[in-house]
Amino acid sequence: MFIDSLGRDRIRWPRSGTLNVCLHASMFHKSTSAMHVNNLKEILQPIVLGENKKAVTIICDGGPDWTPRSTPNLMNFGRLWRDLNLDILILTSYAPGHSRLNPIERSWAPLSKWLTGVTLPIALEASPWVEFVGLSEDEIRKRKAEVLDEACSKCSKYWEGKTIDSFPVRVKCIKSLGEGQSNDHEVLKTMANSSAQKLRGDPQLTNCRSEYQFFVRHLTRKTYQIEFVKCTRLDCNHCSKLGIQAVNFFGFLREHGGMVPTPKPSKVYSGHYDTLLNTAKMHPSVDFQEYLPSLKGKRQDSCRESSCRYVFNSKADEKRHNLLMNHKKK
Ligand SMILES: [Zn+2]
Ligand SMILES: [Zn+2]
Repeated sequence: MFIDSLGRDRIRWPRSGTLNVCLHASMFHKSTSAMHVNNLKEILQPIVLGENKKAVTIICDGGPDWTPRSTPNLMNFGRLWRDLNLDILILTSYAPGHSRLNPIERSWAPLSKWLTGVTLPIALEASPWVEFVGLSEDEIRKRKAEVLDEACSKCSKYWEGKTIDSFPVRVKCIKSLGEGQSNDHEVLKTMANSSAQKLRGDPQLTNCRSEYQFFVRHLTRKTYQIEFVKCTRLDCNHCSKLGIQAVNFFGFLREHGGMVPTPKPSKVYSGHYDTLLNTAKMHPSVDFQEYLPSLKGKRQDSCRESSCRYVFNSKADEKRHNLLMNHKKK
């Protein structure tokens, strides 16, 4: 805890720590939430199991592969919460135009500096990139993978073992070919755009839809934030069997309807929002209204089902959510 410049009690959130860098060639692996989740599982598993930390907050940028507004992303981060047996997972992003406040942005300066003057080879010994003519497509792909993997490995040698803020930098190079990065991200994208008939007719899509419904039962979805929190329902196979270990944080969230209290503009300090502690004390009821400057006083639509805490980000999103949840029109 600390006291801010306005004399208010504040919770100090960790702002620094080990920097994990995952390097991959985008020619072979697209940056998707599925890929980030694969990497995050590996990074987080030893902390979750070894240090018994069951509540995770991810501050991300609002890019397409991270944004909490996308349905496939919601599914992939839901899987991270479920598969790591987390009690709480919060994925939050800064409002558009504020990504400079994201701590990760400050890590780019030292990483770039350590690469000053480094040239990444475009050839491996006798096979320059430009001389791939005459080879089969498979062979060209293999050679390109080798060149790009070598470039990743060279970068990693300049970073590995360095420190930022006295914390170590760790680098993982993801091989371009044949390393278990397979995922069903395309299926999730298809599910998000399928008709009711298609969802019923394809067993893979039907399964994904059940998964979506399971996640939504544990989800609070705000405009720039999604929160997965274990439930206390005895008929929930996942939560009733695995129990809660982040007891204090979980208890705090339960007091506020199982979600992080939504920030409200301060009535005392004009131009500021209430702190988390103030908001929790002064607005104990569950309320989604987010008072985002971009909404200009309008209230965003949210799902009318009492069991859902889901703010829509568009009419299309509303339609998709109602279809996937099988909500009947009221
Ligand atoms: Zn549950
Ligand atoms: Zn709903």
